[in-house]
Amino acid sequence: MVLHLKSAPTKSFADTAQHDVAARVAAIVADVRRDGDAAVRRYAEQFDGWTGPTRLDDARVEEVVATLDPQVVEDIRFVQDQVRTFAQAQRDTLVDLEVETLPGVRLGQKHVPVQAAGAYVPGGKYPLTASAHMTVVTAKVAGVPRVVACTPPIRGEVPAATVAAMKLAGADEIHVLGGVQAIAAMALGTESIPAVNLLAGPGNPYVAEAKRQLFGEVGIDLFAGPTEILVVADEGADPFLVAVDLLSQAEHGPESPAVLITTSRTLGEQVLAHVERLLPGMPTADYAGPAWRDWGQVLVVDDLDEAYALADRFASEHVQVFTADPREALEKMHDYGALFLGEGTCVSYGDKVIGTNHVLPTLGAARYTGGLWVGKYLRTVTYQEITDPASSARLGEVCGRAARVELFEGHARSGDVRAWKHAGRRAAW
Ligand code: NAD
Repeated sequence: MVLHLKSAPTKSFADTAQHDVAARVAAIVADVRRDGDAAVRRYAEQFDGWTGPTRLDDARVEEVVATLDPQVVEDIRFVQDQVRTFAQAQRDTLVDLEVETLPGVRLGQKHVPVQAAGAYVPGGKYPLTASAHMTVVTAKVAGVPRVVACTPPIRGEVPAATVAAMKLAGADEIHVLGGVQAIAAMALGTESIPAVNLLAGPGNPYVAEAKRQLFGEVGIDLFAGPTEILVVADEGADPFLVAVDLLSQAEHGPESPAVLITTSRTLGEQVLAHVERLLPGMPTADYAGPAWRDWGQVLVVDDLDEAYALADRFASEHVQVFTADPREALEKMHDYGALFLGEGTCVSYGDKVIGTNHVLPTLGAARYTGGLWVGKYLRTVTYQEITDPASSARLGEVCGRAARVELFEGHARSGDVRAWKHAGRRAAW
């Protein structure tokens, strides 16, 4: 049984794919398709007040990076090392293979990187420097030769740390460009930005919807919209820590849900009290406040099995597990973007420092996809070869019969001629 200590609607895809967002995005995409750079410049000025050139050349990048505190640059390097190490370990799990299925019949698979990728790094509300590590470092570990990185200006300025992160990660082109106009430019190509093959990176509802609409013309990583957090906690959890972590994600923006599922009514009440006390003093209360008011939930369940089952129904982007045996969630949960096991870690570590990728599915997309990883930049392609004429003839005979079952006479004849050529079996035609 579920007791609602604080109720709110559960966010669904329909909240973001709502008509006005979809229609606005479609109009901007159509303009970029028609007018290219001219439309991109128009929207950059309209939404972000940006009238300068969008592309930063190497000299400008160096100038921007030089303004940074060296500690910021050192931290960027540290985090990129963590992201690179994990991405490389994941890359190593993807093996090319070749097997001989019949004498002289070899079937193989290779992992081939896309030849150009777009990295979207959000920056409307906060300069999301860490998204540059997640998108650009990972693309480079995959071996993508051309990575185009875009981020909007923040309050009219170039986001220096983000640009440094793009550069250190190995981005080949860096643009101060945000929102739908950036996504459309990278997907469709303009006079100054040749089209990419795959787009990756998180963003607000406009960015997420733009990727959704352009999917097909361009590949996309996944639907990674406004951030979500869900905490599963038992009676032993620290209510202060839970409250702090819920608010840490609510501050992403007013569309960000924060949900607690607990087996302890006492803990739920304590967390509620901490949140109410902490919220007004948060410098980011303008985002966290509405997010908590409109989308925050505190739900009390009978036992942890019920908690895991309910958490699975949310299919939340992030799930923190603060229980006596957090690793049990690895077996008992199925639908989530990333799990954070035990109170030693938290979503903020995943977002900023630990090394797993923070571009993760939202609005229930975790039901069908995991987050961004090196494999998203790679295509698993296959090849085949036959060097034994007898095997070619054997497959040719089966191909002739199988294709005729499907009424494909042309296919059948490709099989027949090989049976004929390699084994002397004459075809009927
Ligand atoms: P953003 O870069 O995604 O969006 C800013 C852009 O939105 C602007 O450049 C502007 O062009 C465009 N825009 C703003 N208002 C518009 C309007 N009315 N019509 C059309 N376009 C408009 O930055 P943001 O807004 O700060 O959002 C970042 C989002 O990324 C947050 O919601 C955050 O939760 C999310 N995020 C998600 C993940 C994930 O993996 N799912 C990870 C990190 C961040």
